[in-house]
Amino acid sequence: MTSTSKPTPIDIDIDVAALNRKYAEERDKRKRSDAMGQYQALEGKFAAFGHDPHADPQFKRDAIIEDIDVLIIGGGFGGLLTGGRLREKGVQSLRIIEKGADFGGTWYWNRYPGAACDVESYIYLPMLEELGYLPSQRYPKAAEIYAHCQKLAQRFELYPAAFFQTQVQRVEWDESRQRWRVGTDREDMISARYVVSCTGLLSTPKLPGIPGIETFAGHAFHTSRWDYAYTGGNGDGNLTGLADKVVGIIGTGSTGIQTIPHLASSAKHLYVFQRTPSSVDVRNNAPTDPEFSKSLKPGWQRERRDNFTTIVGGGYAPVDMVQDSWTDIIRSVVPRLVDGTPMMDPDAVKLAEMTKMELTRRRVDAIVKDKAVAEALKPYFNYFCKRPCFHDEYLDAYNRPNVDLIDTKGNGVERITPRGVVVAGQEYPLDCLIFATGFDFLTDYSREAGMQVIGTGGQTLSKHWEEGPRTLYGFMTHGFPNFFTMSIAQAGAAVNYVHMADEQAKTIVHVITECMKKGVATIQPTEQAENEWVETIVSGAKGRRAFLEACTPGYYNYEGKRERAAALNDFYAAGPMAYVQLLDDWRANPDLPGLEKRFAGTDP
Ligand code: NDP
Repeated sequence: MTSTSKPTPIDIDIDVAALNRKYAEERDKRKRSDAMGQYQALEGKFAAFGHDPHADPQFKRDAIIEDIDVLIIGGGFGGLLTGGRLREKGVQSLRIIEKGADFGGTWYWNRYPGAACDVESYIYLPMLEELGYLPSQRYPKAAEIYAHCQKLAQRFELYPAAFFQTQVQRVEWDESRQRWRVGTDREDMISARYVVSCTGLLSTPKLPGIPGIETFAGHAFHTSRWDYAYTGGNGDGNLTGLADKVVGIIGTGSTGIQTIPHLASSAKHLYVFQRTPSSVDVRNNAPTDPEFSKSLKPGWQRERRDNFTTIVGGGYAPVDMVQDSWTDIIRSVVPRLVDGTPMMDPDAVKLAEMTKMELTRRRVDAIVKDKAVAEALKPYFNYFCKRPCFHDEYLDAYNRPNVDLIDTKGNGVERITPRGVVVAGQEYPLDCLIFATGFDFLTDYSREAGMQVIGTGGQTLSKHWEEGPRTLYGFMTHGFPNFFTMSIAQAGAAVNYVHMADEQAKTIVHVITECMKKGVATIQPTEQAENEWVETIVSGAKGRRAFLEACTPGYYNYEGKRERAAALNDFYAAGPMAYVQLLDDWRANPDLPGLEKRFAGTDP
């Protein structure tokens, strides 16, 4: 085990002032007045980009009319964990509605070649001990994670409760019955005592609003709707359908980084259109060591997961159990005194971050042979302005003769024509164009979830959240009784998203089952509790504001133009483990403080 108490000694000369200037210069090149408005939703003439390539388009079923206790919207990890924990507590009257044709959420949709999780499998895949399962490798491929989702659904008998290929469109509070009326695109009419909305993060794909995008006459798709019928192959690559094709890809974020090596080895020619290079650190994947498996004691997963979230959340732990590139980043950029206290000196922190980023740039030089290409692949921004990436084959792809990096020097693609992509006046003709251009992130909740939510007195969630979310602890809202939203906004945000989803699921299930036990008909946060929590979030957000504003544009900072909702969309500033502790303490109080309860039989 490595002690986290010593800063990594690295002897690199850093000219902080020069790098600060370079970071600012690179950021300013990328700032655009249209910021978030530069993207295009998958609707109207782009609706076909959103079609599900995995589902049977002929699927039909009769509409259902039913009365149930709990309705869960979404069958990803959030929905699976909520459903699983409800089942553990004996709740049988349950329905799960999912847009895809199976459970899996992110891992149902994202099956692009190379798709994998960049968080260690032993802490990312939930309920490993309950399922008696250990993943085959440290950083699991998408197919293994997707299969794990199905195992969870089987283990907790969630399949009989599931409606797939169904989209919830309207959720409306019926005051007279004190239940939610839920309508779907298959004309189901469901009446539910509780609704838990687990519609996910980064689940609504977006396209760039590049002029001419609709005119492209070749084949095109978004990475989250990968068209294997066209490319051939599978999640491991071997895309035989591309052997005679000239392929272009726009986007070099976490998705682009994972899929580009497979496109490079399969396509006749690959053009990578880059706006901003990502930081790409080592991956070091490995099969699961049988000795590791033998060493595990009951409770190991929770301990390991908490240890990782503590360290990566900036806290201190005497040992680093995971010891990977994530924990290494934190060790490097949050230098500590020997007793483990973080160095609060902003200059020391800045120097440490710049040193870490310089090492990332040196890695590019060590791998990419062409010096000009290597230069273009170097990131110049604060490490946490964008999601760090990890890959051992990505940079090497640029050494192949069939791969060209078309660096747009921060400007982005200029135009798309019927034949291809134009950058700096030069057209690159393509057979196939792939968009690795990401997803909506904390925009309008109802729009992202694709449903209208109408609470007491006819008020919509969109209206109540017009300026940004208003919640208690991120998942309950005044005026929306018995309604829960799983999200990171106003909640704990962790690199291991599933960790936070699990803590929220536990808490939501606790509230529901306590209400059932005690005969509480409706529950919602008091206005005062909601206001106080919102104030906690907004005042905590002030600390991150200057950092985000100095960042190069990306979805973390609303593409460089702060929106009114930004402070309200922020996370619990005390950190993810403080959030876990807060929820633990709150659940331990039988009064569920901050909640307004109405008992069955009392007038609405
Ligand atoms: P991102 O939003 O991170 O990346 C979008 C990419 O598209 C960026 O490189 C962006 O450039 C580029 N782009 C957008 N518009 C243009 C344009 N007009 N011209 C040229 N380039 C353009 O999306 P991803 O799908 O890569 O990742 C989204 C998130 O999903 C990640 O941040 C991560 O949280 C999650 N993810 C997690 C994985 C995991 O292992 N756990 C794996 C994959 C994704 P620019 O940077 O300049 O905006």
